[in-house]
Amino acid sequence: MAHNVCMIRGDGIGPEIAEATRRCLDAAVATTRGAKPINWSFAEAGVDVMETAGTPLPEETLEAIKAADACIKAPVTTPVGTGFRSVNVHLRQSLGLYACLRPCKSYPGVRSRYEDIDLVIVRENTEDLYAGIEFERGTEDAGQVFDTINATSKGKKIVSGRATTGISIKPISVEGTERIVRFAFEYARANGRRKVTSVHKANIMKFTDGLWLEISREVAGKYTDIEFEDRIVDNMCMQLVQKPELYDVIVLPNLYGDILSDLCAGLVGGLGVAPGANIGDKGAIFEATHGSAPKYKGQNKVNPTALILSGMLMLRHIGETIAGDRLERATADIIREGKDVTYDMKLDRDDPTAVGTSQMADAIIRKLEAKR
Ligand code: NAD
Repeated sequence: MAHNVCMIRGDGIGPEIAEATRRCLDAAVATTRGAKPINWSFAEAGVDVMETAGTPLPEETLEAIKAADACIKAPVTTPVGTGFRSVNVHLRQSLGLYACLRPCKSYPGVRSRYEDIDLVIVRENTEDLYAGIEFERGTEDAGQVFDTINATSKGKKIVSGRATTGISIKPISVEGTERIVRFAFEYARANGRRKVTSVHKANIMKFTDGLWLEISREVAGKYTDIEFEDRIVDNMCMQLVQKPELYDVIVLPNLYGDILSDLCAGLVGGLGVAPGANIGDKGAIFEATHGSAPKYKGQNKVNPTALILSGMLMLRHIGETIAGDRLERATADIIREGKDVTYDMKLDRDDPTAVGTSQMADAIIRKLEAKR
């Protein structure tokens, strides 16, 4: 028996970090007693496949992801001016990947202003201002929404001009909030975490963020073994910068989640080491937070850590917890030793001792083999 994993190699730096990650994942399971091997399938997405398939996300790719136990995806470039919004948004919506998980952890050896941070961001992925319900200023649709709002809002009117106002709608539902807050608590419980913090702006947006807070409290009532608290988003930003060690699992609606995940990635040393996962009831895609960095394409230069750590999350997700933990330790050892790391992890970015993407993976594999 093997785990069926679909890999999307992406474009730009994607194929290089994907190959480095695939080799590390194979080594992690091969060197862990009792772990099942990975049976890889490969699917295409991004600007490269667009030329032949006419779309950056072919139907076969969606089918291949659905057929697999999990998917690991390297970054893809968002094509500009094609009318296609984003491969990532499309994937999340069509596969119902409602939870975005972003662990932010300090690894000694990564340059950062803080030490000992170990936070997990749980971001709702489908609702909020990112639901894509927007009306462009000057269009008839925007005008009609403007009129409806002004006719029904009991004296609270949009004061700017009918033809000069763009409108975005922020849907937040009981169902959407319930399932993401429950996800955060279940994650906390399964991973030995002590506290969940729910973030909102309920003092201003009473019917959306107010609902979020009310449902967060209701769900929290069912998890008495995990501490619960809430924070207003602006205060949360300040607290994270001043005392990040106070926080553990943080659950947020889509927009605040997007912003705070980058803030927290910054706390632990930036995008090069920030892994991520998009998880739903029927599937999961694991991917680095960073993009396809096209200017570094084909140079065997960039840091594979964020995708390798995303692979570590995938191993845990498919039940290979020991292999996942071993991969994390091997990667952390290489980073701490600071020798076989890419240019961005050296004190001086022009340091000639920096190794390439695939050589950093080789060093992690050697660690895994040495510490069987
Ligand atoms: P980016 O993350 O690709 O790159 C920004 C800069 O960060 C790079 O120039 C590089 O200096 C640095 N960087 C990124 N990854 C690195 C790594 N692994 N090692 C070392 N340095 C690294 O962001 P961008 O330039 O804004 O986006 C490029 C493309 O990627 C865009 O088309 C964007 O839409 C897409 N994108 C895709 C994803 C995804 O597929 N998940 C995520 C974000 C952006």
